[in-house]
Amino acid sequence: MGADVKLAKRLEAVSVSPTLAVMMEAKALRERGVDVIDFGPGEPDFNSPDNVKRAGVAAIEANLTHYTDTAGIVELRRAIAARYRDGADWSADEVITGVGGKNVLFLLSMALLDPGDRVALYAPYWVSFPEQVRLCGAEPVVIPAREEDGFVPRAGALDGLGPLKAVILNSPCNPSGAVIPADEVARFGAWAERTGGMLISDETYDSFHYGPGAFTSFATLAGRLRDRLVLVNSLSKTYAMTGWRVGYALGPKRIIDAMKKIQSHDATHTAAVSQAAALEALKGPQESVAAMRAEYRRRRDAIVAALNGLRGIRCQTPPGSFYVFPNVTGAMQALKAPTSVEFGRRLMSEIGVATVPGEAFGTPGHVRISYALSLERIRAGMERMRTLLGSKDA
Ligand code: PLP
Repeated sequence: MGADVKLAKRLEAVSVSPTLAVMMEAKALRERGVDVIDFGPGEPDFNSPDNVKRAGVAAIEANLTHYTDTAGIVELRRAIAARYRDGADWSADEVITGVGGKNVLFLLSMALLDPGDRVALYAPYWVSFPEQVRLCGAEPVVIPAREEDGFVPRAGALDGLGPLKAVILNSPCNPSGAVIPADEVARFGAWAERTGGMLISDETYDSFHYGPGAFTSFATLAGRLRDRLVLVNSLSKTYAMTGWRVGYALGPKRIIDAMKKIQSHDATHTAAVSQAAALEALKGPQESVAAMRAEYRRRRDAIVAALNGLRGIRCQTPPGSFYVFPNVTGAMQALKAPTSVEFGRRLMSEIGVATVPGEAFGTPGHVRISYALSLERIRAGMERMRTLLGSKDA
């Protein structure tokens, strides 16, 4: 049906995620009764905190079920601005909330990018960055971040690339877990001042930074760079609220207004009930965040140690997010897998372990392994990998 209908040209440049094949295979295996250990998910295995759930229920009972402001209720926007008070002084009308961080990033691309505009991003990158840029007819300019440098994006790599409308940064990074240190944040600020390019900083994983030192938000540049910075974040990971769909952006009023204009013809706003829950998440007790951070850190240390014990795998200890992104080229050779997609398939079909191949993030030779699953499952998955790949000391 509809085979004769011509789809919009903008879709021609957009690819289906290479993760799909692995996901389909995992599904098929599960249906055949195989216990797949799934290191694929990009979402917390924790449930939303009780106070957040209660706030959602209370919002329904209080009939907070009507339309709200397009940008979201003002109390929520104020609470979001307050989160950054130490580094910036954004006001409520410089904040927009939307249907998750992904939606907010898309509104931002729609508001900023014309066909032909060039936008820099660093590989490994989160899968949706290049595709959203392409959907706007703009061109992603992909810069490889260096594995030897812990995959940290370096501002110096922007020199000589020609005119860039914007650079998209993601610290802590999905998938590498890399965190941009304070001096490099300052260098990106200097680049924006010098060239007039926009900085888009996706800080979705800012609560999951394990040190050493404190996390440096791009909000620290907001005083100097008011017109050149948009910060994007989400409640999805910080508060284990993926399904509630609340994300937000802070930035110059002119850009936020443009995003509102687009949202007013699209989703209108994120769900009123979700906004009430998000307000409680931000203003209520924060112990659950600290507890998740401590648990993720424990898992990270366990998974890095286990992976580094496997033949053909080299894994750094990333300072943030809940992913590791090991180099698997040695193991690929041992299994005669020419690509990391094929390597991922072999893990899936031979030992029932699901990972996401590096191709999805623009960095082949690696796989992304999420540690948003219990230590017990992590250990079981690592043991399966040991049976396939062997131990380094064996
Ligand atoms: N940004 C990054 C780097 C992510 O990894 C994700 C989710 O995986 C998002 C944004 C968007 O999350 P959400 O749309 O659930 O807020």
